Amino acid sequence: MSSADVIIIGGGIVGSSIAYHLTEAGCRDVLVLERETQQGKGSTGKSMGGVRAQFATPINIRMSLYSIPFFARFEEVMGHPSGYRPQGYLFVATTPAHMEYLRQNYRRQVEAGLQAVRLVDARDVSQIAPELRQDDILGGSFCATDGFVDPHSVMTGFMKKAMERGVRLLRDTEVTGIAVDARGVAGVETSRGFVGGRTVVNAAGAWAGNVARLAGVPLPVEPLRRMLVPTEPFDQVSHQSPMVVDMNTGFHYRPEGRGLLLAWNDPEETPGFKLNFDRGFIEKVLTRGVNRLPCLEEAEVNPRRAWAGLYEMTPDHHPVLGGVRQLPGFFLANGFSGHGVMHSPATGRILADLILHGRSDLVDAELLGFERFASGRLLHEMVW
Ligand SMILES: Cc1cc2nc3c(=O)[nH]c(=O)nc-3n(C[C@H](O)[C@H](O)[C@H](O)COP(=O)(O)OP(=O)(O)OC[C@H]3O[C@@H](n4cnc5c(N)ncnc54)[C@H](O)[C@@H]3O)c2cc1C
Repeated sequence: MSSADVIIIGGGIVGSSIAYHLTEAGCRDVLVLERETQQGKGSTGKSMGGVRAQFATPINIRMSLYSIPFFARFEEVMGHPSGYRPQGYLFVATTPAHMEYLRQNYRRQVEAGLQAVRLVDARDVSQIAPELRQDDILGGSFCATDGFVDPHSVMTGFMKKAMERGVRLLRDTEVTGIAVDARGVAGVETSRGFVGGRTVVNAAGAWAGNVARLAGVPLPVEPLRRMLVPTEPFDQVSHQSPMVVDMNTGFHYRPEGRGLLLAWNDPEETPGFKLNFDRGFIEKVLTRGVNRLPCLEEAEVNPRRAWAGLYEMTPDHHPVLGGVRQLPGFFLANGFSGHGVMHSPATGRILADLILHGRSDLVDAELLGFERFASGRLLHEMVW
């Protein structure tokens, strides 16, 4: 393992997609370094698996417009299932301000080419999600091609195909240093020795800031704990239900197995590598949940089945993709701020384009470049 054309640090869904997309473009001397003994132990294995094109910024919409059809034909291409279930995402608004926000987003989504999205009124909402408390609902936005995937299966499919084409995956191998010379990146130090290479990709998820620091790059990616609570088997909500987002509180849920998966973004959560599940969260999520979904009162929850994982947050809630001007050969694919699973196909494609050709026709990658933080060209997106 003394050298590789491209070295990818991190074997989660993003590193795996980049490896696959590089092979698609003909680059096969690729080495993926993963410090855990198994893939998926980072955020990928903790994710809720939601995929949607209902975003506020054209660049996020564009990334979803590449990624969602990709999930739909994933099995055909990879010979491995993505678990894509197009059950939709329903955003529910109870204030005129939120309704207006959805209207503006809807215009941008349609303009970008999204066809399956529609604005819905209160009556539509009661048909799509009859289990909701309806009295204060003004309307919402629904997109039928949104839905969920199985993140672990997508990651495995990407890596399996990449390895069939010659990509090497080294597990139990931690990157501990990044070597730099006058030309730029020269390789990486690992717990198993040095690997030479002029192209190194940081795909280290919530740990990306630490990895970037090894190269002297001040990457503003912070870990932020997110917790999910599955219910025990529960039949009072349809198993065909979409992901439903109550914009008023941020509470959201989707069917999972024979029950539901409940989520809420606690605004009091503070950054840090916190991976313990806080049992106090159950009360918090259920309070918001029962308020919108009264039948939840009868659902049972086993705290031992709940879990915590890390979002990788950037200051403008958009990822950082592409090279770093000050350090030739060092590439970033980080800071997905809650969208790394759904945007993994587009990310792989964009990174392969940028590494091999210096540009991507999928998006204007400059907008997502590392330099935007220093120049103050930030984007804006809400996190659900
Ligand atoms: C509770 C929760 C719910 C979520 N829900 C959604 C959702 O509904 N939809 C969605 O799109 N996204 C969701 N996300 C976000 C999504 O899971 C992440 O954005 C995505 O998994 C990031 O993938 P990744 O490959 O970049 O990171 P990871 O999966 O974390 O992979 C990074 C890998 O890098 C390895 N690594 C780190 N440092 C080193 C090193 N020095 N050397 C070698 N290896 C290293 C780690 O071990 C890890 O395996 C959710 C996240 C959480 C926590």
